[in-house]
Amino acid sequence: MFMRVDQLQANLPKPKKADPNAAAALQELLGGKFGEMSTLNNYMFQSFNFREKEKLRPFYSLVAGITAEELGHVELVTNGVNLLASGPDPDRGQDVTKGPYEDMSSMRSAANFLHAGGAAMVADSNFQPWNGSNVFSTGNLVLDTLHNFFLECGARMHKLRVYETLAADNATGREVCGYLLVRGAVHAHSYALSLEKLTGVAMKNMLPVPNIPTDKIPECQKYLDEGSHRRLYRFGSDDYAEMGAIWGNGEQALPGDPPGELEVIEGMPDPGKIPDLKGAAGAFTPEYEPEEIYEIASMLTKKM
Ligand code: MN
Ligand code: MN
Repeated sequence: MFMRVDQLQANLPKPKKADPNAAAALQELLGGKFGEMSTLNNYMFQSFNFREKEKLRPFYSLVAGITAEELGHVELVTNGVNLLASGPDPDRGQDVTKGPYEDMSSMRSAANFLHAGGAAMVADSNFQPWNGSNVFSTGNLVLDTLHNFFLECGARMHKLRVYETLAADNATGREVCGYLLVRGAVHAHSYALSLEKLTGVAMKNMLPVPNIPTDKIPECQKYLDEGSHRRLYRFGSDDYAEMGAIWGNGEQALPGDPPGELEVIEGMPDPGKIPDLKGAAGAFTPEYEPEEIYEIASMLTKKM
């Protein structure tokens, strides 16, 4: 089962202005073939379908543990899209007869407004819906792990390309990419180590693929400085400690990253605040005149 924590895995700076086209680029990291919906669902179904969980505890714990982190990545990218997809600026008021969202008709991400009211969709950067054929779960441990290694490498490629499309002052989108580039490197490294233990092939010598210079990406620095590239998390659960048999046991950070031993952390990453998205009357989110439902919610919590 899953436990839910009302926090993000990183703090996202608020954008100075809405940027629906940047939100459309970020959609690739959410619902693209190599996006967070794909990593989440691959590891989730592989862990549900895993055979011989007790005999193969370190390998099961690794893919089960990373599943929980990926669910938080879906949440992080979604919040990044939500912060950027509202708009466009300036606010044209709420009179529905005056075309308050006229500008959205020409946005690449029109569906972010037309369907979702200025928020994320489970789709890629071209608004093709994510679908289950992106999940590879054969039950063969080496093959599934090899797929996960490839998936994490591909995901980093796409994160870098999205980063490259973002304006230098798009702090929100760049933070999403910076954090996920560091975490994606951890996951690629962890599946490389898993394959090494299983096959004896020195997979980690191949990394990083592609050779992304995270030391030159400003948004990656604080995560590298705090040692995020050496950590996997158990999110406060007593379970899944056996992943330390793969991610630990004296294994070290990759050459080129700040040095140190790999470690499994009992807790979770330093939490970030979930942005509180403001309602927009003209888009009827959460309602055209929401005062009555605000009052209902306030009365409900007063009774607690
Ligand atoms: Mn991820
Ligand atoms: Mn990952």
